[in-house]
Amino acid sequence: MPSVFDHCHDLLVVGGGPAGYFAALAAAEKGVSSIIILEATSSPLNKVLISGGGRCNITHECFDNRELSENYPRGQQSLLGAFYRFSVSDTLSWFSDKGLEIVSESDGRMFPISNKSSSVVDCLKSSAKATGVVVRKKSVVNHLQKLSNNNFIVTCRNGSSYVSQKVLLATGAHPSGRLLAKSFGHNITPPVPSLFSLDLEGTWLTECSGIPMDNIHLSMNINGQQFKESGRVILTHWGISGPAVLRLTAFAACALKSASYRSRLRVNWLSNFDANYIKKTLNQFRYQSASKTLLQSRPFTTLPKRVWRGLLLQIRANTSLRWADLPVRLELDLFNALTASEYEISGRGPFGEEFVTAGGIPLAEVDARRLESRFCPGLYFAGELLNVDGVTGGFNFQHCWTSGWLAGTAIAE
Ligand SMILES: Cc1cc2nc3c(=O)[nH]c(=O)nc-3n(C[C@H](O)[C@H](O)[C@H](O)COP(=O)(O)OP(=O)(O)OC[C@H]3O[C@@H](n4cnc5c(N)ncnc54)[C@H](O)[C@@H]3O)c2cc1C
Repeated sequence: MPSVFDHCHDLLVVGGGPAGYFAALAAAEKGVSSIIILEATSSPLNKVLISGGGRCNITHECFDNRELSENYPRGQQSLLGAFYRFSVSDTLSWFSDKGLEIVSESDGRMFPISNKSSSVVDCLKSSAKATGVVVRKKSVVNHLQKLSNNNFIVTCRNGSSYVSQKVLLATGAHPSGRLLAKSFGHNITPPVPSLFSLDLEGTWLTECSGIPMDNIHLSMNINGQQFKESGRVILTHWGISGPAVLRLTAFAACALKSASYRSRLRVNWLSNFDANYIKKTLNQFRYQSASKTLLQSRPFTTLPKRVWRGLLLQIRANTSLRWADLPVRLELDLFNALTASEYEISGRGPFGEEFVTAGGIPLAEVDARRLESRFCPGLYFAGELLNVDGVTGGFNFQHCWTSGWLAGTAIAE
């Protein structure tokens, strides 16, 4: 009777997500011949399919590697070197060679020209077929062991076993991959959600739901740590969301968790104007719009009417007061509300289009060039299983392409 030990594969990849596929493909393209991807579900690459609202924000148009690395709240340092070896340009060339054209949008996000994530899935699946990479679905790996001859034996919940020279774990944020890594002595940085919006306690903001605003400056001080971000926000019925908020919460993910998602958010609603200009404009308005009420005439038209009204209510101003009668104290309150309003954060709001988890295998336990375990030669890692996460905008997939390529290339060496 044939035994599992009769055939030794070159590489077993645990997890059929983008990182696992890309690592397998990189290894196959560099001559590794017997590769199997073991995927727990019946639908590999499922996250790619649902990503970017079904369009797959595949990477970000950023060709400066240092600037690119600054979009990773965790992993920034180690990714800089990695991006010099496999950059955004390399991603674009790799997919273009396979016939998948990628286009960018004005904010730098890049998508397949078809605007369909299924094009990315099809491209990865057909590349696997073309290079002889075998995918075994419904194969939940629950045991991994190193043999005395340095090969690995991988066992699945369905009873099947495989022997391989090398193993790559690319199980994303799933706890089972972390347990497998732990069995080789790896520590796990506890998982923490990233990229979420913020619930703000009972404010007028919720009445402005749906309003997008640009050039808004946000800041938070959590236990002495300062976090700042500027850009577009969207007011929602629970508080505040939008790219600047998601970026802020990504960088503050761990601090916010340790503060049980309670803190204060400071907002400068007019961050593109100089403070002196704002003061002067408010003062001039007393004369220019003397007979008009505060509600009727707003000095900064970049502020939507509903937001202006909300800010007036926030400082308890009588909205039918005429500009000529505005007390000096209220003028100062208005200036402060426009440039440094503070709102109570009452919790974590819903996630944006992307959902990623911070935490995972500490980078110090992995050879940064080869993505090989420092504790177990022949064991490699890629993707979200590592303690790396990016902000919203295609950075998380770029990490999958880069880490997958680095690991696959090292495996082939
Ligand atoms: C709704 C949503 C939208 C997103 N949109 C974007 C976007 O547009 N752009 C972007 O850059 N990022 C996006 N992200 C983030 C991105 O999807 C992840 O960063 C990325 O999928 C991580 O890839 P991965 O291969 O490391 O892990 P995963 O994609 O999670 O793949 C891991 C695979 O391993 C399998 N697996 C787990 N445990 C086992 C086991 N024990 N045995 C066998 N198989 C196992 C899982 O079933 C899974 O298929 C989005 C995330 C979500 C949830």
